[in-house]
Amino acid sequence: MKTFDVVIIGAGLAGLQCAKLLSRGGAKILLVDRKTDLAKSIHTTGIFVRKTLEDFDFPAGTLGKPVRNVTLYSPKLKTLKLESDKDEFRVGKMGKLYESFLQKCLENGVEFANGTRYVSARLNFESQISNPTFQNESDNEICNLTFEIRKGRAIVKLERNGEAFEVETKVLVGADGANSRVAKDLQLDENKEWIVGYEEVFHSVNSNDEPRLHCFLDAELAPGYLAWIADDGEEIHIGVGGYAASFNPREALKEFKAKIEGEIIDLRTAELAETRGGRIPVGGVLRSIANENGLLIGDAAGAVSPLTAGGLDPCLRLSAMATSLITERLQTDNPKILLNYSGELFRARFVSRLWMRRIIAMVSNQKLLELGFGFLRGKIGRKFASHVFFGRGSFPDVEIKINAKSNSLNASLLKN
Ligand SMILES: Cc1cc2nc3c(=O)[nH]c(=O)nc-3n(C[C@H](O)[C@H](O)[C@H](O)COP(=O)(O)OP(=O)(O)OC[C@H]3O[C@@H](n4cnc5c(N)ncnc54)[C@H](O)[C@@H]3O)c2cc1C
Repeated sequence: MKTFDVVIIGAGLAGLQCAKLLSRGGAKILLVDRKTDLAKSIHTTGIFVRKTLEDFDFPAGTLGKPVRNVTLYSPKLKTLKLESDKDEFRVGKMGKLYESFLQKCLENGVEFANGTRYVSARLNFESQISNPTFQNESDNEICNLTFEIRKGRAIVKLERNGEAFEVETKVLVGADGANSRVAKDLQLDENKEWIVGYEEVFHSVNSNDEPRLHCFLDAELAPGYLAWIADDGEEIHIGVGGYAASFNPREALKEFKAKIEGEIIDLRTAELAETRGGRIPVGGVLRSIANENGLLIGDAAGAVSPLTAGGLDPCLRLSAMATSLITERLQTDNPKILLNYSGELFRARFVSRLWMRRIIAMVSNQKLLELGFGFLRGKIGRKFASHVFFGRGSFPDVEIKINAKSNSLNASLLKN
């Protein structure tokens, strides 16, 4: 059986970032994804906000044009135009971005198992450490087997082309998305509240318009969230998002397109390239996201803004924190170090956003939304909308200080 320092399940942005950072330190890493091609079956629009663009380097050719303009629409298509003097958003070319992150991982020695499904994990497994000896005592055979519990180790069962195989690891990382199987097997918290997003991506042809993000409030087509057009002149993403129990995303997208086609966007010359969709956890960062055997990152950890449903910035930041703790755990050979990785650190920062999510979830009436939109068009409302779209709020960074004497850690949030 092959042995690794770290096995990462999921090569989305969170898993790739974690593998990339960890591999710089020379850890022996296995990165696993059930996809054969990371550029296929993408399930994100890929909008990165200003703070992410400022704090992280993106490989050349992986971002679309900067977007400075946002138009917000009421159910009756009344508008509120917001304009920033800074580049606020860029739509990632996610296939290229994943491939480029993967390339860096491979250069650093990460082993990548694509087309490979995570099946299960056995934690703190028992291992036989001496050969069996048998002796006769009266009529009974006594078996002197000696076992040790391999604390902080796991055996991970994987499957490729219908064939199962196992690997051993010191740390198991769940980067396997909103519906994480690893979270369940590690007996950590699991996402319970989510919205569903569904979109079509078009290659833009002859678009001379200013890059713009259009966001639509509509309790029927996007109950509990938004419908959107992200048009940066290169790609046009048209999508709907909301609570799965309250709408049919495919039908809603059809209706949404009928509502906007000709009025707001002209798709006559645009070519449909792909459809994307998936769950977005909006219950806030989960509390229990680590134990001595491993930890969760990205959507698996619920690391998504409950208000904006943005999860890409948290993928990059939380994976950086996870990397520091995993490195420390490997260097000290102390599995308990991972217990410092807790969702409790972050939850206080999201209290107001969680409340706003609850309020938005309750608004299921178009008239009420239209009324609320009237408020947004006022002076205070406009300020609030600008803050939501252009504020520098992002997932918090964490500073980790190691007390060499007591070998303990202190993790604190940085202001950002
Ligand atoms: C429609 C939509 C639009 C969105 N738009 C934006 C946006 O514009 N901006 C933003 O900030 N956020 C957006 N989000 C949220 C954001 O995309 C996610 O938060 C982010 O992509 C999560 O990344 P991740 O790496 O945690 O998970 P994922 O990207 O889900 O990656 C998980 C990986 O694990 C693999 N996997 C899962 N199970 C197994 C298994 N059993 N075995 C092997 N592999 C497995 C999957 O194949 C996948 O590659 C959007 C989400 C959706 C659904």
